[in-house]
Amino acid sequence: MGNSIYEVRRRAVLALARSQVRVDALLVSRGADVGYLSGFSGDDSLLLVGVGLACLITDGRFAEQAAAECPDLEVIVRSGPMSTAVAGVARGHKIRRLGVQGGHMTLAAQAALGAAVGARCRLLAVGEVVLGLRAVKDAEEVRSIRRAIGIAQRAFRGLIAGGAKALSGRTEREVAAELDYRMIRGGADSPAFDTVVAAGAHSSLPHYRPGRARIRPGQAVLLDWGAWAGGYSSDLTRVVFIGRIPPELAEVYEVVLAASQAGLAAVRAGVSAKAVDRAARAIIERAGLGERFIHSLGHGLGRGRGNAEVHEPPGIGRLSAARLRAGMVVTIEPGVYLPGVGGIRIEDDVLVTAGAAVKLSTLPAAASAMVLR
Ligand code: ZN
Ligand code: ZN
Repeated sequence: MGNSIYEVRRRAVLALARSQVRVDALLVSRGADVGYLSGFSGDDSLLLVGVGLACLITDGRFAEQAAAECPDLEVIVRSGPMSTAVAGVARGHKIRRLGVQGGHMTLAAQAALGAAVGARCRLLAVGEVVLGLRAVKDAEEVRSIRRAIGIAQRAFRGLIAGGAKALSGRTEREVAAELDYRMIRGGADSPAFDTVVAAGAHSSLPHYRPGRARIRPGQAVLLDWGAWAGGYSSDLTRVVFIGRIPPELAEVYEVVLAASQAGLAAVRAGVSAKAVDRAARAIIERAGLGERFIHSLGHGLGRGRGNAEVHEPPGIGRLSAARLRAGMVVTIEPGVYLPGVGGIRIEDDVLVTAGAAVKLSTLPAAASAMVLR
C-alpha cells in the first residue's frame, strides 16, 4: 500500500470512527464517501476500512473500473448479495465489531447485513465521520471546486449574453435545460442538482421546480444552478430582471445584497457558523423582513451532488453548532421570499481561511448588472 491521499483519509476516518465507537472496521456505504476514501467513481459499491484493511466490494459491472481506479485496494467482485460479500470479508479479517454509517445505511440493509454476519459480529452505528472529514478541503479539492464554479459561471454568462430575448417568451424548463446544456458543453459531467428557474411569483418558493410557465417581460427570474465536474459541485443563485426591476422587489434586492455582503464578510476560520448566519440575518431583520428569510444562510459544498446531497456540513444557520475551519468551502445564500410576489436570493461560494474569506465565485451581484435588455 502506498501513502496516497486516499490512504491518509482512510486512516483519519478510522481514527475518528474509533473515537466515537469501539469498532474493528467501518463499512462505508454512501457513494460520495466511498469515492472520497478510495478514488472509485462508480456506483453500488461499499468500502470496508480497518487497520491494514481497505476492501472495495463491487460487482461485475465495475470490476475493470475498480481495478484501474483503486490499484492499492483489495477489490472483491461479488456475485451474490452485498450482505453476503461483506460478511465474507468481515469473517476473513476476524471483525467482531463492525461500524456502519447510521446516517446513510437503511434499516433494511442493516438487518440483511446483521443476518449475514451472524452472532459473532456486532453492527454499530457510527456518526457522520466521513462528512466531517470531507468538510475541510485540501488544495486539490479547492481547485476542483473552482473549476466547477467556472463552468457554472460561463454557462450563466453565455445564457444572459443573449439579453432579455434569451429568456423572455421561453418556458422555465427550456431555460433550465439550456443552462444545463451549456454547463455540460463547458465541461461539467452533469448539473450538480436540479436547476431552478423560477419566474415571477414562482420565485417565492425557494426550491421551486421549473415548469411550463413562460417568462414575460418585466419579471424577475431566479436561477439556482451548479455544475458537477471532476467529482465536485458548485452552487450559485442569481436573480435576473427581464427589461426592468419590478418596483416591489427593488428594495428587497438591496437588502438581500447587503445581507450577502455581511455574511461573506463574517466568514473566517474560528467563527461559529451561527455567528455568520446572524451577521446576514440581522440586516434582513433590521429591514423588517426577518420573517421572510425562511432558510439557513448557507452550507458546505464539495463532493455531494443531487438535491439530497449537495448540502454538506457545515450547515450555516441559526441552530448550527459548527465552527468554521480553514479549508472549508461554504455557500452564503440569504433570501427573502414574498408569497404571491416573488423572491430574491443571492448565492456565492467561498473558501474559509484564517483571514478574510476567499470568494470563489465571481459573478456580479449588483441589481443593475442583472437587468437584461
Ligand atoms: Zn443553490
Ligand atoms: Zn446552496
